[in-house]
Amino acid sequence: MYLARFPRIHLAHLPTPLERLDRLSELLGGPEIWIKRDDCTGLSTGGNKTRKLEFLMAEAKMEGADLVITQGATQSNHARQTAAFAAKLGMDCHILLEDRTGSRESNYNHNGNVLLDFLHGASAEKRGPGLDMNAEMEAVADNFRGQGRNVYTIPGGGSNATGALGYANCAFELVAQANDRDLVIDYIVHATGSTGTQAGLVAGLKAIHAQIPVLGISVRAGKEAQEENVLRLAEKTAEKLGCPGAVTAADISANSDYVGEGYGVPTPEGIEAIRMFAEREAILLDPVYSSKGAAGMIDLIRKGSFKKSERIVFLHTGGSASLFGYLSTFGFENQLESST
Ligand SMILES: *Cc1c(COP(=O)(O)O)cnc(C)c1O
Repeated sequence: MYLARFPRIHLAHLPTPLERLDRLSELLGGPEIWIKRDDCTGLSTGGNKTRKLEFLMAEAKMEGADLVITQGATQSNHARQTAAFAAKLGMDCHILLEDRTGSRESNYNHNGNVLLDFLHGASAEKRGPGLDMNAEMEAVADNFRGQGRNVYTIPGGGSNATGALGYANCAFELVAQANDRDLVIDYIVHATGSTGTQAGLVAGLKAIHAQIPVLGISVRAGKEAQEENVLRLAEKTAEKLGCPGAVTAADISANSDYVGEGYGVPTPEGIEAIRMFAEREAILLDPVYSSKGAAGMIDLIRKGSFKKSERIVFLHTGGSASLFGYLSTFGFENQLESST
């Protein structure tokens, strides 16, 4: 597959490492768990949005934009990475942050990704829950255009066919790494939200006939809605890649059993996964996305959904900066005091 015909700004630290998680695999008694470290893509603590933004920000630059606008939840990793990318290119960045959780905690509202948004020089405004955030963003963009700005808008999560090219790129990269090591990958598992990651991966894998199934663990939508949304974007991405019709409904699989109370609300299984990865593998997950993805993988392993001999690649999509927005979730505040 030929990605070089698309505008791209090479800024990600690629290829990201592909590592075996021996201590986690041992704890769970097989299958063999591997991790694709897209938490190490670089750009303000890394994460999956770096790959998408390589293509999106190249398009923004090509169109002569001086201001990029995007939107996300308060602790959006996408917003933080967009702010960082814009800083690197000398563009202004404006962010709309949606209060999806209703949390009044200071850390949630000001620390973690929010701190980094402002450190990278972005401006931001808040919105209440339940609005059509992409429509809100377009209205704000029109306002800036009226003031003579050349605005490029990026949808939530960077999830359109341009952004998804970044995950087609990840699919090619992962398959090349597996080929070099004679590693047969039976499943790829990852957290899925705005769908660009799964859509790009599936389109990329189908484009090269890799025949590796991808399971998305939903962090928000129900299974049917998520699969429908992923399919729609995967079809568009395949078309953009030059292989229309390569992706069908049978290629899309999402599981929404690990959402818990809702988007951005940590779950007990997710917290267990964060601690397991941190204590056994020295890898930081996040409370909103990767922990729920990992919790899904761990639960499905415990239920025997994978054979002991199989190899799973967990795609780590990043997000650890939001840990600092979720301090109270862990109950560590009294740990030092009570030990003296
Ligand atoms: C955005 C994000 C995801 C979900 O990726 P989508 O492409 O939006 O489905 C997963 N993990 C982290 C840490 C994210 O920031």
